[in-house]
Amino acid sequence: LVSREAKREDTVITVKDVAIGGESVTLIAGPCAVESIDQMMLAAEKVRLAGAKILRGGTYKPRTSPYAFQGLEEEGLKILNTAGRFAGLPTVTEVIDLPSLEIASRYVDILQIGARNMQNFRLLQAVGQTRLPVILKRGLSATIEEWLMAAEYIMAQGNSQIILCERGIRTFETATRNTLDLSAVPLVKELSHLPILVDPSHSTGASRLVASMSRAAVAAGADGLLVEVHPEPCKALCDGPQSLEPEDFTRMVESLRPIAAAV
Ligand code: PEP
Ligand code: MN
Repeated sequence: LVSREAKREDTVITVKDVAIGGESVTLIAGPCAVESIDQMMLAAEKVRLAGAKILRGGTYKPRTSPYAFQGLEEEGLKILNTAGRFAGLPTVTEVIDLPSLEIASRYVDILQIGARNMQNFRLLQAVGQTRLPVILKRGLSATIEEWLMAAEYIMAQGNSQIILCERGIRTFETATRNTLDLSAVPLVKELSHLPILVDPSHSTGASRLVASMSRAAVAAGADGLLVEVHPEPCKALCDGPQSLEPEDFTRMVESLRPIAAAV
């Protein structure tokens, strides 16, 4: 169902008045984790002014360490929802299991399946039974075929609103958090009709590398970017080192305009 043979034309997913796929480059931005109402209101306003069309914020965080901040859960979803409505931006959050899916579906416009859950087949099927658009991140060590098969799990349940997201894969290289596989962008476009985003934040792990990887992603044909932006990255509870300051995000977006038809 996800293959080009199944459908020739590119899929365009519309959330409120925002399109993902097609001619424009859609920017999704916000902090890794929802931390407080003040943080989210500020983040929402700043990313909207810079040109972001969708607000992100994690409230169920699949952290490597069980002692790290795990997210504000439903309280965080209320904050994300309020900040999104305040700024007039649709929202996206990650779901990690069936209970978080059930709760998050009531508060957000788009669901996200994170890299660590790309092959959580029961979760994929459950998301496939909703009618919300889903961002499906590539697994830490997933091949493109495994990734597209994960999308197939969602679509086989009747939900065809899937947005793929390349977020870097694990290689022998440790200088960056992951290795951004930009060739995935044109390859996925060849193999599938689904839109594809690039996440320059998790793929590099370093805010100073985000702008150049964003430009490269857009040049490679990405339908959008998923970028971590925090009002005060040095105080972030999660992923501060890879989060852009709002001013840097604004500059980065400006630098995309000569490359993309419409940002
Ligand atoms: C995230 O988007 O905050 C996240 C946890 O990403 P990934 O699943 O790609 O690691
Ligand atoms: Mn993160």
